[in-house]
Amino acid sequence: MTKDHTQPEVNIGLVGHVDHGKTTLVQALSGSWTDQHSEEMKRGISIRLGYADATFRECPGLEEPQRYTVEEECPDGGESDVRRTVSFVDAPGHETLMATMLSGASIMDGAVLVVSATEDVPQAQTEEHLMALDIIGIDDIVIAQNKVDLVDRDRAVENHEQIREFVEGTVAEDAPIVPVSAQQEVNLDLLIQAIEEEIPTPDRDPDASARMFAARSFDINRPGATFEDLQGGVVGGSLVEGELEVGDDLEIRPGLEIDEEGRTEWQPLTTSIRSLQAGGEQVETARPGGLLGVGTGLDPSLTKGDALAGQVAGEPGTLPPTREAFEMDVDLLDRIVGEGEIEEISTGEPLMLTVGTATTVGAVTSAREGECEVNLKRPVCAEAGAQIAINRRVGARWRLIGVGTLK
Ligand code: GDP
Ligand code: MG
Repeated sequence: MTKDHTQPEVNIGLVGHVDHGKTTLVQALSGSWTDQHSEEMKRGISIRLGYADATFRECPGLEEPQRYTVEEECPDGGESDVRRTVSFVDAPGHETLMATMLSGASIMDGAVLVVSATEDVPQAQTEEHLMALDIIGIDDIVIAQNKVDLVDRDRAVENHEQIREFVEGTVAEDAPIVPVSAQQEVNLDLLIQAIEEEIPTPDRDPDASARMFAARSFDINRPGATFEDLQGGVVGGSLVEGELEVGDDLEIRPGLEIDEEGRTEWQPLTTSIRSLQAGGEQVETARPGGLLGVGTGLDPSLTKGDALAGQVAGEPGTLPPTREAFEMDVDLLDRIVGEGEIEEISTGEPLMLTVGTATTVGAVTSAREGECEVNLKRPVCAEAGAQIAINRRVGARWRLIGVGTLK
């Protein structure tokens, strides 16, 4: 199964508790350290979540798992064959960054749950992130039992059993647990094999209308750029369906907030695609899958500083409606991690909602058991049936309490 292209075709989330080694693992597999925010603009694409591409390869002469590698050269001196290129979405593990994790989760096709062998299982965000995968329905999961270089065999076995027990009854129940050391680059071949087996590239309809979830947007011009040198605004995100081609017209929703005689209105933006960047290269056509940078003809001041993050882009006239309010069916979790039981949603309470890559606050205007209506501070572009991660304010934090389905 060799390929001639290296456009990323699947998004793999890295989730789990802070300091368990997610960013180190991405670096070991991709060669990129995703925490370097200043690099992001230069590369034209990234998301506030860390982001990096890796090409999985195999050495034809070697057995499994040794044949799996990210190196171009095999130990026997031959060249490795490309299997596929993946985009990693490196979620922050810190408790205050659940919203970022959730908007990343909306573009994850599968996930690697990183669990440190040096700590008891589960740590808070190990559990919270797994719950998020569970309710969003991301069920292609590999567990990386990391930092095995720091523990002895007995502890590694005990930790493995804790992980097994912890994932019982969850979406990760059957996920393989692969012991690795991200820092010492031990067992990465086994991990790649597990990812290749457990996280397939989803079937996507290339004939469907293009649908891209924007996760970031930027102005890539240097200060003081002359008019002739000025580049249009760049939108970064993931194409979940269809194809985009340089030269295509593009609509972006909800678009721009316009003040008209004291009333604010959201108007979709329309532009055209000037350039496409995928897998670190300029391409003419972008296929659905990994992360993508779209150079547009938009005034860069419109895309500056993630102004279009959370918006949806596609062929003009094909996008879902912009909604300033909606009704949703609600499925609450059994409990909030570390807090206990979850009370029903009540009229008047504010909720933080993640819809696609958009995060918005909504006030509940009516609530009944299993459903509610919300009025949004910032509108979203979303289809009936879209999944919504619902968060409630508990103390100083937004906590995940359930999942909604847009009616
Ligand atoms: P993140 O918060 O999950 O992204 O964790 P990082 O990747 O930033 O790693 C946190 C710390 O753990 C860093 O100091 C890493 O060098 C260290 N670390 C990560 N993986 C390993 C590993 O496999 N072995 C050892 N010994 N240290 C590791
Ligand atoms: Mg990190």
